Amino acid sequence: MTAVPHAAPHRLRLSADALVANWRALARMSGAGAACGAAVKADGYGLGAAAVVQRLAAAGCRDLFVSSWAEAAALPVAAPLGLSVLHGVRAEDMPLAAALPHVRPVLNTAQQVARWRDAGGGRACDVMVDTGMNRLGIAPADIAGGLLDGLVIDTLMSHLACADEPAAAMNRDQLHRFAALRGATRARRMSLANSAGIALGADYAFDLTRPGLSLYGGVPCPALADTIRPVVTIEAQLLQRRIVRAGEVVGYNATWVAPADTPVGTANLGYADGYGRGFSDRGRAQAVAGDGPWLPVIGRVSMDLVALDLTGTTLAEGDWIAFDPDLPRAAASGRSQYELLTGLGKRFDRVWA
Ligand SMILES: *Cc1c(COP(=O)(O)O)cnc(C)c1O
Repeated sequence: MTAVPHAAPHRLRLSADALVANWRALARMSGAGAACGAAVKADGYGLGAAAVVQRLAAAGCRDLFVSSWAEAAALPVAAPLGLSVLHGVRAEDMPLAAALPHVRPVLNTAQQVARWRDAGGGRACDVMVDTGMNRLGIAPADIAGGLLDGLVIDTLMSHLACADEPAAAMNRDQLHRFAALRGATRARRMSLANSAGIALGADYAFDLTRPGLSLYGGVPCPALADTIRPVVTIEAQLLQRRIVRAGEVVGYNATWVAPADTPVGTANLGYADGYGRGFSDRGRAQAVAGDGPWLPVIGRVSMDLVALDLTGTTLAEGDWIAFDPDLPRAAASGRSQYELLTGLGKRFDRVWA
């Protein structure tokens, strides 16, 4: 490794304004009675967790959620910020948990509860209760049976299985099962809603909401479409421009055949960067400078390269291209908005503005 400054041929352009505006909008929708936190697991859904936390904390966000203790240890978080580890504590996590006294585990199982209680000290934890998703969490009946007695619980939480399907009956079922636990524990707060859950209405907000996807520009349901702003734009530099003659082909397996002589650009971006093969013949991009025409992705996306039809432009080697930042539309590539974000590769320069 040398310290010579070097700009990568591809970058993520990240909007701090949009990130903060999205958090404020979700906080507003959560209502005056509920705090609004932020899920920053998977390195802030691919954007870079430390950079996200810094900006959300400055805006007033106080409750953060990661999946693992390694993720917690990587975040420079101190009071008044609260940080919860959604997967709780394994025996292997206890030494790191002891070294991170400001972090709370979200206890999911009777074994985790016993492990935390045995560690002593009355240190605060959160608890996940399963209300029907059958993914993580203790059962409501365990609470009635006294499983949590003696724990210092900050937040009792549950998670919605179908929040992005507003009409699903399961949402109300889970809401009622969770609401029935009011007063059943000594938890200081209750929390149920993720991004889409916030859009289900005030009943779902309880004391704390936990959006992730929509902070980063994802739109899980139509009710958030007019509210959430895009945060991430993928930009890549053109490596070559060529004229492909009528009848010639482009890319692996020669799937694209030029209908006429066509200017074609090859850009520094591919599936190793998270720009998946599902964008083959489907993605689109635009010149970064000016507002030129949409440039269709043509042929197969390669590991590190992608071809674009440059018709109607003078774009040339070295010019920067912005790939469609519209996450709901990009999901037409066959992957969910969550997969697209968390799949964004390590090679990008991450440039906040
Ligand atoms: C990931 C996660 C969230 C955030 O969900 P989004 O759909 O990204 O808003 C909230 N709560 C829990 C328990 C999670 O695992």
